Formats: sequence, structure tokens, C-alpha cells
Amino acid sequence: MEIRTANGLERLRSLLDHASDLIQIAALDGQMIWANAAWCQALGYEPTEVCSLNFFHLLQIESRDRYQPFLQSLVANNSEGDIELTLKTQRNAAIALKGRVSCQMREDGSLELWSIWQPISCQVERNSGNVCDQPLAEISSREPLPCLCGDLYQAVVASLQEAIISLNQAGQICTCNQSAERILGLSAKQIHGLNFFELPWHTIHEDGSQILVEQHPIAVTLRTGQSVSNAVMGIYKPSGVLTWVSVNAQPLFNPGGNQLCGTVASFTDITTRKQLEATLQRNETCYRAIVEDLTELVCRFLPDGTLTFANSAYCQVLGIPLEELIGHSYKMFLLALDKETEISLTTITTPARPVNWLEHQVILPNGAVRWQQWCSRAIFDDQGECIEFQAVGRDVTDRRQAEAELREMSTALSNAVEGISRLDAEGRYVKVNRAYASITGYSPEEMIGMDWHRTVHPDDLEKLIAAYQQMISVGKTETEARGIRKDGTLFHKQVVMVAAYDQQRCFTGHHCFLKDISDRKRAEQKMLQALAKEKELNELRSCLVSMISHEFRTPLTTIQSATELLEYYEWSQAEKQERFHQIHEAVMHMTQLLEDVLLIGKAEVGKLEYSPKPLDLSLFCRKLVTDTQMIVGDRYQITFRDQGVVEPVEIDQKLLRHILTNLLSNAVKYSPTGSKIEVKLNYQRHCLNLQVRDKGIGIPAEARQHLFEAFYRANNVSTIQGTGLGLAIVKKCVEMHQGTIELESQVGEGTTFTVTIPRSAR
Ligand code: ADP
Repeated sequence: MEIRTANGLERLRSLLDHASDLIQIAALDGQMIWANAAWCQALGYEPTEVCSLNFFHLLQIESRDRYQPFLQSLVANNSEGDIELTLKTQRNAAIALKGRVSCQMREDGSLELWSIWQPISCQVERNSGNVCDQPLAEISSREPLPCLCGDLYQAVVASLQEAIISLNQAGQICTCNQSAERILGLSAKQIHGLNFFELPWHTIHEDGSQILVEQHPIAVTLRTGQSVSNAVMGIYKPSGVLTWVSVNAQPLFNPGGNQLCGTVASFTDITTRKQLEATLQRNETCYRAIVEDLTELVCRFLPDGTLTFANSAYCQVLGIPLEELIGHSYKMFLLALDKETEISLTTITTPARPVNWLEHQVILPNGAVRWQQWCSRAIFDDQGECIEFQAVGRDVTDRRQAEAELREMSTALSNAVEGISRLDAEGRYVKVNRAYASITGYSPEEMIGMDWHRTVHPDDLEKLIAAYQQMISVGKTETEARGIRKDGTLFHKQVVMVAAYDQQRCFTGHHCFLKDISDRKRAEQKMLQALAKEKELNELRSCLVSMISHEFRTPLTTIQSATELLEYYEWSQAEKQERFHQIHEAVMHMTQLLEDVLLIGKAEVGKLEYSPKPLDLSLFCRKLVTDTQMIVGDRYQITFRDQGVVEPVEIDQKLLRHILTNLLSNAVKYSPTGSKIEVKLNYQRHCLNLQVRDKGIGIPAEARQHLFEAFYRANNVSTIQGTGLGLAIVKKCVEMHQGTIELESQVGEGTTFTVTIPRSAR
């Protein structure tokens, strides 16, 4: 039986299939329609054979004679009755059954016979051919259930998790089971006779629009006689609570089968599922948006290069739609400029060094030649086997061009007209050309007799004196240094000094060739800064992307397996609750991660909002501490104390919450159970001090300088979970208040974080 798509009826059948009574459904002419597993086992038939059997042919002659009139009276009265019969099994043994047969009306008005049997005894044929009686226990390994016979149908219906109600043609509720009482929030007595369509409910479609009475799935069945399955609707009860249900409705016909006389409807409460679906949808959209909005090219591929994912930037740059990329190797689309070398994003990586950087000139499918920089990260399974790669790429053509331009500029500079001067043996200018004088901001006349030291930046004087000495001893030197112009401004110069001698080879002074290299230095400086920033951002983005993909796997797997389990199997209410709890936890974890990532992203691009308002800080901290204490229960003892003159302070509540929750949750996370955590707030005249002290694992000295960088985690965290984002967020939030954060820590003893916020921030 297919449980996966089970509707109410199929679910009922599945229940029946597991009963130990022998249950069968047959047509009036004896044609078998269905039988449960116990029936098949007792009679020795395969479930697939059942439909080819006729019940009359299974009866022993004597039983058949009694069964015919019994049936006629049942049908005439459309009722049910008890009978004992003897049947032949497939192996030609006889089995005596006792049970109840009842007439049931089908959708099309025809009748079928539902029978529930309990074996009394059976006779088996021995080798000799003799037939002898054998007690039942010997042939049946199953314990028969306590009499399911009585009101089997009602008993089963009553115990279903689904709410079941039956309505007459006028819409009045005739019967309901216990689950219906629960979902409707009324007792069976109160429900009986109520008009279903006059219940004080407001019902809505999935898109939130109202369901009119005539559109209601049950009304449709009552009007048309057609069944409705799995219609989803929301019910606002008078209390304002919204419950989502999935509704099935089956029409009921009178015994003649020609007149619609009511409907049976089942409801399943799917509120929790709907809520989880909605949260999941939001998170999924958010995660996709992050990856899709990146200007970087993001892709994932198998070790052989086969692409499994690409974001829209990737598709756009290649000019190829996603469907055409997936399933093909990236090597088909990214061609190296020189044909010999292949672009390999999979250069040997190990779990310890999973990242590989590559900068390459590529030919894009449209023929354009670009420089691309790729950071690819290998993903390993538990056995350390590389299973996939994730790569983040960016176009660095502009930077490459700038570098090339810089090189050209240097060449051009070296050909430019240079300043030339002649100095005497004491280092005073004797001759100066125009170019030389103008570089230093003097007129040539002003420079004559001047000591060369005056044109050098004091910080570089020592360096130039050394060069001067070297020139005297070896005849020539070349160096770069900072110079000072007449107006005191700074410039960068390249200096070549060549010693001059008289005919007796006595030192008479030197020639100095001067070049202003300020432009080149500035360009170099800018380039270095740009490179550093680019590297920093690239690293952050790559880390973000792989952290998101990596950290989302575990909760997504949990959600997926829990939902599959929920979908494919029948569970008790408690087991279901446990699954939903697992899903809920995983969703919360993902939501927190997303919030952290978005917050860091915002802070990086300077978009964190800062709106200070007067706040009762003590109250705020006390409440947060109490809330945290409630969450951790008696595993930790968290205390709060304030000092100084307690008065409202201007502070951004949202940012402060990030600061305190992160510090507190770290204190808990990195401390052994049973330890104490102290939160102290000190109101000082010019500033506020907020301190969180724990007695946990502590932070090694070498880790402290990196602690506030995103993704950094100290090496003593062992298996304690974390992303390394919390303290980076705290730091940004503190900085928004122009504050500072300090820490004292002793490994194995504990850690104290102190946040100081000036009272007149901004
Ligand atoms: P996460 O806790 O998610 O790793 P955080 O940014 O909050 O990230 O913290 C960064 C690192 O600082 C942690 O991984 C841990 O090594 C260290 N750390 C932070 N708070 C504490 C603390 N109270 N005790 C010990 N180590 C801490």
C-alpha cells in the first residue's frame, strides 16, 4: 500500500492491513475486492491474487448454503450480522472463522460487504490425506487483537489523528470523531446538529483571500457529489488563532445510490508544517539573494569539473543560461589564453589546506579576453575524500591594466628630462639646471652655495648621508628618498650621485641627477592599498560564501530528513512533535546564521544603522540576563550588578542587544556547566563600562589580536560549535558608539570582556 500519498481512506486501509483480524471487502457477487495481510496469510494467498478470487468459491458447501440467505437478509435491511463459516485455504486445508459482515455503500451507490473474521480452529491435511483438527495457536503466530469486530469502522475512525465529520445534505454535522472535537474546539455534544457553514469561523485560501461559502470544499462536494482531496485552507477561530488544515471530502449517497445525502470530510492540522514552510522559504530566499546578488562569480563543481551550481553573475559573464551550464565542465567555457595550460581550479588541496588561489587570463565564450582571479575551496567528506569544489571568481582585468599602465609610466619617466647639478667637495651646490631647481621649488640662483642636506626630508637624511659616503668610496650611487621643497612640501626623488675628480684624481665634489618620482610613488601606494583592500574583501566574501554553504548543510539535512520521515511514515503525536522540534531548532539556527551574516555584510559596507535613544540600561541588561538564565536553566548561574548613578543613557538598543547577547552566549558556550557568569554595569561620569566575566576555557595570548576579525576562532575551542562572527559583530556595534572593547583572559581560568562607551557618543 502506498503510504506516501495516503489520504484518509488509504490510511484507514493501512491501519486495517496491520490488524490481526482477517478483514476482507467483497462485492455482492462474491468477487473479492481487498483483503488485509492477516487474511492472506491465514488463507495462503498472495495479496496480488486476492482480486482474482471469489469468496463463494472459498466456502465449504455447507457454509455456502448458510451464507446465501444470511447475505440476502443483510442486503434487504442494509445492516450487519454475525456468522460462522468454514473456508478452504489455498493448500486445501479448512479454516473455521467467526465474524461480522456489514453492508457498505460505495460512492457509485453499489454495495460492498466488509467482513471481519477471527479464526476459531483449522484442519490441516496430513500426508495420509486425513483431516484432523488443530488448535489455532499452532498455525497462527499472531495474537488476535481484542475484538475489533464490534464497531470496527467507528473504532478506527475514532482513533485517527485526522478529524472526521459527516454532514447531511443541509450541512448539519451528524457525527464526528475525537480529533474533530479537538480541532473544532467543541465537544461532540455541542457539535452534533450544528450547521457546518454557520460555525463562527472565517476561512481563507492559501493566498489569504476569503473562502466564500459556496467555494468551501465541503460545500462543493455537497453540491456536486464530487470528492475533493487535499484542499488547503486557513481557519480563523473566534479567538483569532489561525489554524491551517488540509481537507478531504467524500460524497455519501442513499442506499439506492442515486441521491446525494451528505458528505464525510476529514481535516488534518497542518499549521506547524505551514509555519515551517514559510520560515524555510524566507531563509531560502534570503540565502539565494545573498549568493545571487554577489557581483562575484560563484559556482560549485564536482572534482571532474562538472558544474552543479552557478549564480547569475557567473551565467551573465559567460553569457550562457544556467540550464546549459549545469552538468557540463567549467573547462568547456573558460579557456586559457595559451592553449597548453588548462585552467585548473582543482590544484591539489587537502583538508588542512582546502583553498586554492589562481589568477589567469581567459577567453570567454564571446571571445573577450579577461583576467580572472579565482578562489576555489575543496569540500571533503568525513573520510577526507574531496567531493566537491566551490569557487568564487572575479574579474581583475582593470587592476591588471592599471599595473601595466604603471610599468609604462615608469619607463616614460626614466626618459624624462632630469635635474642636473654640480656640488663642491663640501656638498654645496655650484651649478644647478632649471629642471633641478624647479623640482626642489627654488630658482637656480637661490641654490648656489646651499648645502644639499636642506633639500632632504629629515627622516631620510641618514639614508642619504650613507649613500653620499658610498659615492665617495665607490664613485657612484643611486637611491630613492623623500625630499623637501622650498615651501616645506614633501616629494619623492630618485637620486644618482657621481663623484668628480681633478686631474690628480683628487675628489672635487659630485654630479647629482634628480628625478621627481612622486607620481609613481603615489600610484604605487594607491595600488598597494587597493590590493590590500581587494584582498581583504575577497577573503571576507569567499569566507562568507563558503561559510554559508557549509553551515547551512547540517540544518538543511536535518530538515530534509525530518520532513521525509514525517512524510513517508506514520508517527505517534509525540514522535511527530520531536521531529517538528528538530526542524524548528535547525530553522532557528539557520535564521541566526543569516542574521549574523547580513549584519556583518551591512557593517562591512558601512550600512549599519545607529539611532541612539534614552534607555534604562540597567533594566535592559537585567532583563536580558534573566532571559538568558531562563534559557540555560540551572546549568549556569548568571548574575547582574550595576554601580554608580543609575540614569537613562543615550544608546542604540538594537546594537546593544547584539553586544550583550553575543558576549553572554560566548561566556556560556565556553564555560563548563555549573560555573558562574557575572555581568557588571558601571555608570561613570564620562563613560559606561559593561563587563561580562566567565570562568571558562580562556583565550590563548596569540589569538587575542585576531579575535575580532570575522571568522577567526582560537585553537582551543575543540568541538564547541561556532562561526567566528559574534565578536566581529560586537566590535562593529561598539565602534558605532565610538566605544572600545578590551579583554583579559587566562587559559583555563576564564575571560572578562569590558566594553566602554563614552556617554556623549556622537
Ligand atoms: P564563535 O563563538 O562563533 O566561534 P565569536 O566571534 O563569538 O565566534 O568568537 C570568536 C572566538 O573567540 C571564539 O571562537 C573563541 O575562540 C573565542 N572566544 C570568544 N568568547 C570567548 C570566551 N568567553 N571564552 C573563551 N573563548 C572565547
